Amino acid sequence: LHDQFASEHHLAAETLDGEHIRLLVNAGLEISADLANANYIDGVGLYRTEAWFMQRSTFPTQNEQELWYRQVLSAYHPSPVVMRTLDIGGDKMLSYFDVKEENPFLGWRGIRVSLDHPELFLDQLKAMLKANAGLGNLKILFPMVTEVSEVAQAKQLLERAYYELADEWADQFCQIEMPEIGVMLEVPSSTWLIPEWAGKVDFCSVGSNDLTQYLLAVDRTNSRVAELFNPFHPAVLRVLNNIAEQCQQFELPFSLCGELAADPEGAILLVAMGYRSLSMNPSSINQVKWALRRLEVRYMKDLLAECLRQPSAILVQRLVRNFIVEHG
Ligand code: PEP
Ligand code: MG
Repeated sequence: LHDQFASEHHLAAETLDGEHIRLLVNAGLEISADLANANYIDGVGLYRTEAWFMQRSTFPTQNEQELWYRQVLSAYHPSPVVMRTLDIGGDKMLSYFDVKEENPFLGWRGIRVSLDHPELFLDQLKAMLKANAGLGNLKILFPMVTEVSEVAQAKQLLERAYYELADEWADQFCQIEMPEIGVMLEVPSSTWLIPEWAGKVDFCSVGSNDLTQYLLAVDRTNSRVAELFNPFHPAVLRVLNNIAEQCQQFELPFSLCGELAADPEGAILLVAMGYRSLSMNPSSINQVKWALRRLEVRYMKDLLAECLRQPSAILVQRLVRNFIVEHG
């Protein structure tokens, strides 16, 4: 069956009725340029910078980070690479940065840590900006955003990094550029701020893993409640649908980079909602592509309408499975 999916690896993801869906990869450590070359992908939709930090025993210097990021940006160039600033906390800890909390998923995570440590944040931002000089395929994404002031502060620090570097680099051949910036929509509050984000950032990316965790109050790493963690829960689907509607209304480019996009059953519903950019682990790309290339958006929309009326995740998934059998 895998061979069957792989047989269309070089093709773009286009539905039967001609809608192009951008498929991107989530990446962390690996710099899989081979993958980008061997398969048709539209870039990196989520580069998790913390993966490399987690492998080390000390914080990397600005220079070390610059070299690393440059390898990543070059490997996928000219396709875009969305680099997320450090997203530690929750279940992602660094051995050399001591954080002990009763409730790590509701604690010091993501952008909160970066804003409390502007020296670390500035190092990371400067390393990204320098790595991008002469390439220009970097986009920067902020994780765990809950309110507008966090993005205002993050932008201020990014501007500071940019102006300091632009000064230093005034005589250099390559210029420092200001990249596009985006917020992750993964905390419920941030999904109610789309009109605000539209004026303040260039794009947003839904993190369906954390969004599911926070909407359902289910720790995504706790096996005791694993059965309750389900992004097909009708409430999660309604929120995802609402995000798509709001982003279209306010003309804010949007994509999704959680595990839901890696499941053909999830990808179909997301495309029906209006998502045209999905980022997933590389091993899922061919399967999702295969499914989308065999379906028409208008039928996916009928399916979605029915799913949004269901009272439970089980009934939603049953409908989607039947739909795939009928149309697949
Ligand atoms: C998410 O929360 O959905 C996401 C993509 O980020 P991570 O899994 O790294 O928290
Ligand atoms: Mg997340």
